[in-house]
Amino acid sequence: MKKKLIIVGNGFASLFFITFFLAIPVFPFFARFFRKIYSRYDITLIGNGKFIYFPAIPEFLTGKSNKESVTIDIRPFLRRRNIHFVDSMVTDIQDGGRTVVTKEGVFKNDALFLGIGPAFLKDDIPGTKEFTYSPCYGPDDMDKFVNKLATLDAGIIYLGYKINKKDGFVAGRAGQMYECACLLDYALKKKGVRDKFEIHFFSSNIAPGETGAITDRLRERDIILDYGYEPVKFVDGGMINEDGSLRKADIILYSPGITGSKLVQDACLPVSTGGQIDVDQYGQARGLINVFAAGDCGNHENPPQWVPHQAHMAQLRAEAAAKNMRATLKGDHPTHKYRFELSCIMNMENDAMWMHMAADGKPPFWNMFPKRSKKLIKLKDTFERVFLFYLRYL
Ligand SMILES: Cc1cc2nc3c(=O)[nH]c(=O)nc-3n(C[C@H](O)[C@H](O)[C@H](O)COP(=O)(O)OP(=O)(O)OC[C@H]3O[C@@H](n4cnc5c(N)ncnc54)[C@H](O)[C@@H]3O)c2cc1C
Repeated sequence: MKKKLIIVGNGFASLFFITFFLAIPVFPFFARFFRKIYSRYDITLIGNGKFIYFPAIPEFLTGKSNKESVTIDIRPFLRRRNIHFVDSMVTDIQDGGRTVVTKEGVFKNDALFLGIGPAFLKDDIPGTKEFTYSPCYGPDDMDKFVNKLATLDAGIIYLGYKINKKDGFVAGRAGQMYECACLLDYALKKKGVRDKFEIHFFSSNIAPGETGAITDRLRERDIILDYGYEPVKFVDGGMINEDGSLRKADIILYSPGITGSKLVQDACLPVSTGGQIDVDQYGQARGLINVFAAGDCGNHENPPQWVPHQAHMAQLRAEAAAKNMRATLKGDHPTHKYRFELSCIMNMENDAMWMHMAADGKPPFWNMFPKRSKKLIKLKDTFERVFLFYLRYL
């Protein structure tokens, strides 16, 4: 009998998990027949079938990317690998992970991988849901921001973020919001209307007076720094300050802190202080057998404070989880840990910076690339093209 494996979610973590779990990473269309003949596992993925390439969402501001270009139908990728696809949402997980409940039915498994992504603390600051937009909620919300922005001839724009620090690392989207601020500046300049807008950047997670390369990039663009600021609530037309006064804003782009989704709270999963799946250094959900998680849905064991939730970290975590699941399915102990690394290119369209930090001090790509250069945009575009080609055709 083949072992039954269920994967929940079709984001970065799940797709990287599949890549590292199967014997080979690429499956051109003819390889599907070989996998049908030879496959040790019966794999099912439960999700919505649409992969979203989030790193390109900030580029909606400049028109370089849009909903269509960041959304990939993932079903052919699964078919090539002979993975069954169930178009549904998981509503509960029971029996220590062995039973997965969806509206389409109940599925049993021998091993479970969870790549269900984040939820956002939208109730943390009242008015977040009603009066702010976010690139983190996906293409539709970013489209709404871009469309509303297009109706303004002049005005005050606020961008900001908050981090959930309860699990001791960066459970929030800081870098992405800095990127949005710089791309917004670029887009308004290109339109010839930058002087008609005030752009503010706020976060209670940054100390007033903070310095550094990112702050320098914001200052160069005349973005007003409201470091240390957190509104009491968001309202129509702006934000309410602690003293009850109104801080006027015509439009707000804001990323709340990251936590675990309702499924994490409702199911039989271990939950961390910050509300995420409590995962150990091998990617195992603590206290459960053959249940693994990676990506933005899980916390870390002993993380460095600076490590963020990133597609890049989802990849490193999914690789370890895949190797460990293979071992545990054979009755062996998990041995593969993952590295902590922050690595991303911040695209400002007229400039770019490679943001990098690694627990073991290793530089990205043996320091082959400059830390700051407009040429990095081409490199970032190439990563995107190669990855999306892989998902579509290999
Ligand atoms: C604007 C923006 C820019 C970014 N830029 C970068 C960057 O430049 N570099 C970088 O490394 N990272 C970047 N990131 C972060 C990166 O996108 C995330 O870390 C990554 O998407 C996490 O992958 P994931 O698989 O954990 O979650 P996701 O990609 O969010 O995928 C979660 C999946 O789970 C599914 N799902 C959720 N709940 C259920 C359920 N109950 N049942 C079934 N399916 C479910 C969802 O539909 C989705 O398919 C960016 C993020 C944003 C928002």
